[in-house]
Amino acid sequence: MKELLLIPGPTPVSEEVLSALRKDTMAHTDDRFAKIMSDALQKTKILFGAESGFPFIIAGSGTLGMEMALTNILNEGENLLVISHGFFGDRFVDLGHALNINTDVLKTDAGSCVPLETIKNTLQSKHFHAVTITHVDTSTGTLADVENIARLIHEVSPDTLIVVDGVCATGGVPEAFDDWGLDVIFTGSQKALAVPPGLTLLAFSQRAIEKRKSMTKTRTYYGDILRWMPVMADPHKYFATPAVNMVYALDASLNIILNYGLEAYYKKHQDLAKKVRGAMETLNFELVSKNPAPTLSVFLFPQGVDDATFRSKLAVKGVIVAGALAELQGKAFRMGHMGSVTEDELFIAIKKILEVCEEMGIRVDKGKALDTFLES
Ligand SMILES: *Cc1c(COP(=O)(O)O)cnc(C)c1O
Repeated sequence: MKELLLIPGPTPVSEEVLSALRKDTMAHTDDRFAKIMSDALQKTKILFGAESGFPFIIAGSGTLGMEMALTNILNEGENLLVISHGFFGDRFVDLGHALNINTDVLKTDAGSCVPLETIKNTLQSKHFHAVTITHVDTSTGTLADVENIARLIHEVSPDTLIVVDGVCATGGVPEAFDDWGLDVIFTGSQKALAVPPGLTLLAFSQRAIEKRKSMTKTRTYYGDILRWMPVMADPHKYFATPAVNMVYALDASLNIILNYGLEAYYKKHQDLAKKVRGAMETLNFELVSKNPAPTLSVFLFPQGVDDATFRSKLAVKGVIVAGALAELQGKAFRMGHMGSVTEDELFIAIKKILEVCEEMGIRVDKGKALDTFLES
């Protein structure tokens, strides 16, 4: 059996996308490649709901997207507010410190969301040049209410730029860059987009681009949007060599997703999340998050289940899940159900989890768990 990679990224890559990746490498300035790049950029705008945004596709992981978001809109000494629902929110705090940005953070217990009221009070107490929101924090599986947080920021502090980390969300969760009035959004290729790791996709608003143009000192060369904008507007131009084959793969995957339909793709994520959670609940695996995202589940282990044993037994059966991060390490595990993953694959994964539970001496009602999966 093919190994099932059910971690929250990288996610399984379909044969169709792999065969796009395998095509002959072309010159990065070739007309044919320029067309593929331009097409992929158009689809990136659709993905983010960013008709008015300026799109970028750049070689690098999601963390490059995080760094580009900050280096292009914040000067040293400016104020950043990080709304953190876990490890990846906290990464913005690290980045802020590394870039000499004055960084404040709002955070909560693992699984909870920072209340809107707290965000409002903080925005009223001090001027922030930018706010970051992690749409889905992959450490806790928490979905942030980006739409309402953005609305609040527009009301209370209209000059504040809004940055959204969509790495574990984009494609799997609706995002509306234009309608929500966002300034920077980005994702990585290896999560809900079902492409191998290696690309970051971004969109910047006109307002964010103006901010970059006003900055006299930059702290990035490769990540400077002003160097990339001419290339994205006309991919025949050169700044730094794009990851040609990865762009083939991305374009192929975006075609698959958009042909499937974005709405249908979101719904698939919701439906699969419900099935997995229904089945796991019958085994007393509870979710960490009070507002769980449809792209992954972070399940607390029931009493007496050892993390390392559970995950290694599962791996032997061909199902790879991830350990939890930070304070949840050892107490929970993370299971991705995003991207190209199918219901049949997740059904198999649940069966294997049932077998592992039995081997570990946990009483399970197999019929109930599988019926719940099928009926959810
Ligand atoms: C995975 C992830 C990142 C980091 O992406 P890399 O590709 O590992 O650099 C950032 N933010 C979120 C929400 C993620 O899930």
